[in-house]
Amino acid sequence: MTYDDTNIFAKILRGEVPCKKVFEDDSALAFHDISPQAPVHILVIPKGKYVSIADFGAKASSAEITGFYRAVSKISADLQMQDQGFRVIANVGLNGGQEVPHFHVHLLGGRKLGPMLAKAA
Ligand code: 5GP
Repeated sequence: MTYDDTNIFAKILRGEVPCKKVFEDDSALAFHDISPQAPVHILVIPKGKYVSIADFGAKASSAEITGFYRAVSKISADLQMQDQGFRVIANVGLNGGQEVPHFHVHLLGGRKLGPMLAKAA
């Protein structure tokens, strides 16, 4: 899948759309989800143009991958999510329900999150 420069997270990275930023370094930007599904719901995105976690893992440099996951770890520590626990989700494509085609992980916490998946209908 070709990267679409008009996706909303690309616009946030370029500063064209505002976000409630919680973290930024050379590798990653993290901000509050606009429609939180838990008391803490943060999106962490790499600075590079990757469509999904699969694209990121296949094409990103080792430095980008390390930097991204170090950021995830730092954010969860800074937001004091680690003691009580939290969930990390990366949706991919149609079956995964991915809405925004720029790789991102959801960090969710602040309450017990329940079963990992809803039962199939
Ligand atoms: P996905 O379904 O692609 O894994 O998740 C995309 C997430 O991006 C959703 O949870 C949605 O609420 C969030 N989102 C969509 N548009 C915006 C936006 O403009 N700003 C922020 N902060 N989050 C957004």
